[in-house]
Amino acid sequence: MAETLKLAGQRVEVGEGWTVVRIGHLAVNGAPQGTEGQAETARALGYGDDVTRMNRDHEVLHALLASWARLPASPTLARVAGHIVPKDEDLERAEEAAVLALQRWLLMVGRDVLELARGYSE
Ligand SMILES: [Zn+2]
Repeated sequence: MAETLKLAGQRVEVGEGWTVVRIGHLAVNGAPQGTEGQAETARALGYGDDVTRMNRDHEVLHALLASWARLPASPTLARVAGHIVPKDEDLERAEEAAVLALQRWLLMVGRDVLELARGYSE
């Protein structure tokens, strides 16, 4: 059973092992890719072998961060989804770093990202 969160102009759908962020009529699919890179990221952030949860938290946090900043959507996700926005590498690098840092920090302080996001869902 999938769950839908509404964070600013984004609909975040979370199911068993997959996450989709819809922005307008376009979407970003955030299913784990089974790559060593993702497995390494999961371990480095503190998720151990739980790549699925790392992946879910990552997509949810991109959306949540935008919502906190009162943006209609994550600039990175909007571009990845296919919205025509100019690519700003500095901005996307900063967003990615913020999301990864938040993931690590929220795990360290024992906060569940999905639970947190539910509290902000409209
Ligand atoms: Zn990202």
